[in-house]
Amino acid sequence: MKKHNYSAGPCILPQEVFEKSAQAILDFNNSGLSILEISHRSKDFVAVMDEARALVLELLNLEGKGYEVLFLGGGASMQFLMVPYNLMKVDGKAAYLDTGTWASGAIKEAKLFGETVVVASSKSENYNHIPKDYTIPADADYFHCTSNNTIFGTQMKSFPEVNIPLVCDMSSDIFSRVLDFSKFDLIYAGAQKNMGPAGATLVVVKTEILGKTGRTIPSMLDYQQHVSKESMYNTPPVFPVYASLLTLQWLKKLGGIAAIEKINEAKANLLYNEIDRNPLFKGTAAKEDRSNMNVTFLLKDEAHQEKFDTMWKAAGISGLAGHRSVGGYRASMYNALPLESVQVLVDVMKELENKI
Ligand SMILES: *Cc1c(COP(=O)(O)O)cnc(C)c1O
Repeated sequence: MKKHNYSAGPCILPQEVFEKSAQAILDFNNSGLSILEISHRSKDFVAVMDEARALVLELLNLEGKGYEVLFLGGGASMQFLMVPYNLMKVDGKAAYLDTGTWASGAIKEAKLFGETVVVASSKSENYNHIPKDYTIPADADYFHCTSNNTIFGTQMKSFPEVNIPLVCDMSSDIFSRVLDFSKFDLIYAGAQKNMGPAGATLVVVKTEILGKTGRTIPSMLDYQQHVSKESMYNTPPVFPVYASLLTLQWLKKLGGIAAIEKINEAKANLLYNEIDRNPLFKGTAAKEDRSNMNVTFLLKDEAHQEKFDTMWKAAGISGLAGHRSVGGYRASMYNALPLESVQVLVDVMKELENKI
């Protein structure tokens, strides 16, 4: 039986993506070849890469606005260092907002390249909220933030107005909600949270911000090299790009980001309402910063843990354990998780209340 998959990443993808990917591994486009054994320079794969890049711009409403799309290896973690390498000037500085484990990972790498100003941090409260009052130095080379904090269950609901390049790690909420994406100069996201399988990282960059640092950048880490080769500087992650394309096609067919945003809001409302109503549970994130993607919550009395864990496992739910740094539970509700799966979880929470 197919599980209700709440995994934080790698995570659930649409069922039709699994089916079409499986077919392409056996026989890609009726070519008599597997997607795993064709050249990345073949006409069929170049078409996949071109369509994936175009579809990203279409879904984000960034067509014709000076952006390029790359699918790179190395995970979102590689972007923690590619961003400063490509954007921080020699003797320059960068500004960062510290909202969680991933944000602080990005800060750690930036410090290797130059002065790194942390404009605000919620670390002392175990990242249970997004800091709001901070000043971004006007002379920083860029400002970096993390739109959704996968581990702590917080999400930025608005973004600062800045006159310097705005860089955002959107790994865990890309394509989940409508934003004015043209406010961002560089967006990156590991595919495995909301777009595809692990192995590809999406980078969407406004090309006018590149080439200004005075640094010599190794080719593989240089966005301009990848842009000039249309994301084919070296062998790209062929299969993850293909599965990502299938997910993007699924999203477009569904009605794009505006349509999935409504579904994501319905899922989040259903679960948060139950967390707030049910006397056995409490949420861990500040209400105004609650993430619609990763919902973190606790049992008020840990004595009920064994019973609850047995019940949700019996209901076919998988991947609900919280990250070790928060404890409790984390329900990751990425685009492909159906509303029905959330109803199953809510029903289990109600049943626990009735049994106690
Ligand atoms: C998972 C995650 C990362 C790390 O992604 P990798 O692809 O494993 O390097 C970075 N940032 C955020 C917000 C994440 O959720």
